[in-house]
Amino acid sequence: MMRIRFWGTRGSRPQPGPGTLRFGGNTLCVEVRTADGTLIVLDCGSGAPGLGQALLASGERPLRGHLLFTHTHWDHIQGFPFFAPFILPGNEWDIYGPGGLGHHIKDGLAGQMDYAYFPVQLEQLGARLRFHDLGEGTLGVGEAVATTCFLNHTTPTIGYRLEVGGATFVYATDHEPHMQHVLTEARAREPMGTLAGDRLGMRPNGSGGADGPNGSAGVWPIHREERRHVEFLAGADLVIHDAQYTLAEYQQKLGWGHSPAEYAVDVAVAAGVNRLALFHHEPLREDGGVDQVVEHCRQRAAAAGSALQVFAATEGDLLELPERPTSAGAAPSANGRAAALLSRRTADAPFGESGGDPAILFAGHEPDAISRFIVALQPERFRILTAHDGEAALATARAERPTVIVLDPRLPGRDGLDGLAVCQAIRADAEAARRNVPVLLLTHDPSLDLMEAGFAAGASDHLTLPFTSGRMRTRVRNWLLRSATPSSGIHTADTPAQRELVTA
Ligand SMILES: [Zn+2]
Ligand SMILES: [Zn+2]
Repeated sequence: MMRIRFWGTRGSRPQPGPGTLRFGGNTLCVEVRTADGTLIVLDCGSGAPGLGQALLASGERPLRGHLLFTHTHWDHIQGFPFFAPFILPGNEWDIYGPGGLGHHIKDGLAGQMDYAYFPVQLEQLGARLRFHDLGEGTLGVGEAVATTCFLNHTTPTIGYRLEVGGATFVYATDHEPHMQHVLTEARAREPMGTLAGDRLGMRPNGSGGADGPNGSAGVWPIHREERRHVEFLAGADLVIHDAQYTLAEYQQKLGWGHSPAEYAVDVAVAAGVNRLALFHHEPLREDGGVDQVVEHCRQRAAAAGSALQVFAATEGDLLELPERPTSAGAAPSANGRAAALLSRRTADAPFGESGGDPAILFAGHEPDAISRFIVALQPERFRILTAHDGEAALATARAERPTVIVLDPRLPGRDGLDGLAVCQAIRADAEAARRNVPVLLLTHDPSLDLMEAGFAAGASDHLTLPFTSGRMRTRVRNWLLRSATPSSGIHTADTPAQRELVTA
């Protein structure tokens, strides 16, 4: 049995008051207990001090736990300095969050405890805290197995898939659709509530040469990273998903790093999920407004022919996920298939620190995009290379061996050597290191056909202009970490990693 309790469900900032009494005003914190008593805490927003008090009151000593951060935006960390179990000597906590390429989760947490902001510094806490920087991969947390996956946010952010005793729970918050422009177009074309038959950026299975995790039923995203997101959720008993906006509101919030609730429903349906908790509630949405979003989402799931149960995460609520027997001889299920996909992906793309000095090639012909790209990447001190036509892009890719290539598919070139042809030529290279470099396509408002053509040409990812500096930097960092040399997988500060940590 996995027990899951919500201590904070509000996104962006706390919103106390009479309008949020039912679903809660505290920012994000979720407690998970597995059958063997392992305590896992997801994020540490303003709801976390309440959990801390409950833990102290339980009388359990010493208090040991695992705190898993998605990222260090304020609504996910502001309860950290007030979390009472950290004050007492004898308590031991392992703290995990995204890191790598010179960034450490410990630094992000220490920053808000600088003496200008808080009277007690991280080093003065009495408990023993061990910090672990994570990329993508799999690790053991007590009896649970946690798989991490990068989400699409404005800063490096990871989601967690926790599996124990056949029960699966996915925590995926602070994530924006990869096909944001498709949502905008779909919204313009059809009124709210009728999109279920034409779901967002998805086509019937078989299109694009890949099947969805649901077998022949349903639809499957065109964008490769969107497919990866669906695989990450696949077959889960419960998904807690970012649902800050409605599709109508989302038009004004493109690039802010959050999901419309309708999109959360669509990916959960495509992934064959049982229960979906809408999470990261918009601070200005009062309880009645949340009720309306839930009702709309239930209709959307039903219109798609899905039995998905949709509800809004509610501060104080306790959910129970029974364990499910997994018989060795059973036929492969959607779950089994998803697990295989995930383990293969993990083996292909281990996480870890990248050695050396990464070079990024930007191949584009629009001066504005080039200068914005350079501004975005400068703080990371990467070596930035540029090329303005197909010939130069291919020559630089071959001679300089960049670690990541960002490419405009409409790049001009002689004899048809446009961006897509450059991508195909890179994929045909005789040398594996050059052939396997991540290639990120970058375009204004690409059509679904162009996007499909890009992935067919071997693109790894597709980004839509305009991009913010934070988003571009995050995306390039994520791809660098994914393509990094295999290493121990987890960078641990202070003390040696725990014995039970397993990396794949
Ligand atoms: Zn947030
Ligand atoms: Zn955030």
